[in-house]
Amino acid sequence: MNHLKVYLTKNLRKTILQGDPWIYQNAIERILAEGDLKDRPCLAKVYDQKNIFVAWAMWNPSSPLRLRILSLDEQPPSSTEYRLRLNRAVQLRDCLKATSNSYRLVNGEGDLLPGFVCDRYADVAVLQFDGEDPYFFWDREVFAQVLIEQHGFAAVYFKPRFESKLDAQHWGQASDLTEQLIIENGVQFKVDILKGQKTGFFFDQRENRQHIRETAAGKSVLNLFSYSGGFSIYAGLGGAAQVTSMDISDSAIQLANENWLLNKLNPVQHQGVKADIFDYLKEPNSARERFDMVICDPPSLMKAEKSRDIAVQKYVELFQAAARKVKDGGNLVLSSCSSHLSFEDFLQIVDAALSKARKRGQILRISGQGLDHPYPHACPHLRYLKFIHLVLI
Ligand code: SAH
Repeated sequence: MNHLKVYLTKNLRKTILQGDPWIYQNAIERILAEGDLKDRPCLAKVYDQKNIFVAWAMWNPSSPLRLRILSLDEQPPSSTEYRLRLNRAVQLRDCLKATSNSYRLVNGEGDLLPGFVCDRYADVAVLQFDGEDPYFFWDREVFAQVLIEQHGFAAVYFKPRFESKLDAQHWGQASDLTEQLIIENGVQFKVDILKGQKTGFFFDQRENRQHIRETAAGKSVLNLFSYSGGFSIYAGLGGAAQVTSMDISDSAIQLANENWLLNKLNPVQHQGVKADIFDYLKEPNSARERFDMVICDPPSLMKAEKSRDIAVQKYVELFQAAARKVKDGGNLVLSSCSSHLSFEDFLQIVDAALSKARKRGQILRISGQGLDHPYPHACPHLRYLKFIHLVLI
């Protein structure tokens, strides 16, 4: 395969060998390329600052994240190796099968397949690419065939991200993608893969949702940014007295209501509310209504490093307002999925929000993404999900 040669300025050998899969633009000294190869995503052979081979990587000229490591072997990576990685990813999740038929099957860099994401919805696999280079690099057809022939999937769908101009693709049997029924920790959910966000469901919170099931008994719960009711249904099954799911999306609220009924919970104990949460929290009337447990799992409020200060302020204000909705001695559950925020940043935000709300917190749980979202130990950025459960005293 034609490839670029990329020479690094910085001594990144150690971190690359430790498994950090990312090399940024500012670490690159020079490039040797045939023709116009360097102007589009392609395979790259990477050399350190002493001109010694260090890795093979995916090259993306239009992202500050220029290289994503594929292999440390001197031989170019082969499709056989990628198949092995896919098989390893599938096996790693086998332990979830006892309680769940749906979870993240491949988590990009965390499974040594950069930018390649695949979620399992029972016997349907949904592929999605993260970034531009995977579109040039990964052969969707080959992965789809392996999933169908070796791993027994009935259908594989490729769902392009909204910013991509590609059409959806499909292999295997046709399936009703707006009516997928899945089981997670024994809990049932209807998922709308086509219209839903990302691939249709947020599997990264699976273990945290289980924690909510274990701690919600008897409580009134406000689930902010509820999407299809993930935390709400678990809270209901855990014996919550009353649950309110709030989201700006009509279809998300409709799904949350359906999912509540699907799990045979009493409809009187659930209220789905369509609202802009930032407006709701500002309303003077909303200040009077307080809950035993408030869960706040917003979409990423920090999409880029350059908006750090504004984003941090938004998180602090949101978490402070969420804290004000908690009854004295009640529970505050906060989460952030922004990969630009580290755990330390997140804890500082929580600290600032609690000080502003004049509350003290007792931490019951700090955690991140579940085991189906592995990440390289040398790349803490990829531990993007942060979750904290506090009792406010
Ligand atoms: N907690 C959910 C995932 C949340 S995803 C789960 O466990 O599945 C973020 C959600 O925030 C989306 O459903 C989106 O519709 C909603 N959202 C985004 N902006 C919002 C706003 N301003 N007000 C209310 N909801 C919003």
